[in-house]
Amino acid sequence: MSTLEIKDLYASVETKDGRKQILKGVNLTVNSGETHAIMGPNGSGKSTLAYTLAGHPKYEVDSGQALLDGEDLLKMTPDERAKAGLFLAMQYPVEVPGVSMTNFLRTAKTEVDGKAPAIRTWAKELGEAMKRLRMDPKFASRSVNEGFSGGEKKRAEVLQLELLKPKFAILDETDSGLDVDALRIVSEGVNRAKDANDFGILMVTHYTRILKYIKPDIVHVFADGHFVKTGGPELADELEENGYDQYLPEGADSE
Ligand code: ADP
Ligand code: MG
Ligand code: MG
Repeated sequence: MSTLEIKDLYASVETKDGRKQILKGVNLTVNSGETHAIMGPNGSGKSTLAYTLAGHPKYEVDSGQALLDGEDLLKMTPDERAKAGLFLAMQYPVEVPGVSMTNFLRTAKTEVDGKAPAIRTWAKELGEAMKRLRMDPKFASRSVNEGFSGGEKKRAEVLQLELLKPKFAILDETDSGLDVDALRIVSEGVNRAKDANDFGILMVTHYTRILKYIKPDIVHVFADGHFVKTGGPELADELEENGYDQYLPEGADSE
């Protein structure tokens, strides 16, 4: 079993108006096999948490720890974090012109595993994974995310998840902008990956609709840079009904 432990994490981002502290004392423990849903108002810092854990250079850790099986993630380069088993599906996946999906995935797989995947089984695995995600085989030769629709980008993220087999996956609004069919296909991909490889999931979402497909064990409310409430799946329904107002600082507004 693996454990991801975040302890009293504070982090800032450099903005054009100066440094702004976004994460203000994040504490969380996720074990492999567990699915945690993270819900909270816009601008509360959910993506900042995801990026900080993944090692995005724009986000600077002020204090605190993030440990993966006791190893200090925050001391590692983004590559080393991926190699240690951390995976991030970004809210806004980046386009990489000139790099084909096939080459990107193969390079990422080689990096994460420390050795190149066997050519014949790899091509088969990739083809089958794309087929299950209802991705046109042509996507393999296209540049990463370039000109992909919102839904195609999300599928491409789940394709990576299925192939890279991490220990922990952070899914940042992987359900946003998907129609019902795409939502089901993407959710099935996440569930398949989890069945094959019992990893831990941190799933940032605004909507309970994805939680019907990907069942959370634990639901957290994230507001103003830290977790303010934790509960079972019923907490998601309560949030859908009542919104986040009760968790916001005085005078703030959830838009
Ligand atoms: P959420 O994902 O919960 O909607 P974010 O983590 O994206 O929230 O943003 C939290 C706050 O940090 C927002 O006020 C946002 O504008 C600010 N922020 C995040 N990243 C940056 C950045 N790279 N540059 C400037 N401001 C940022
Ligand atoms: Mg947001
Ligand atoms: Mg976000």
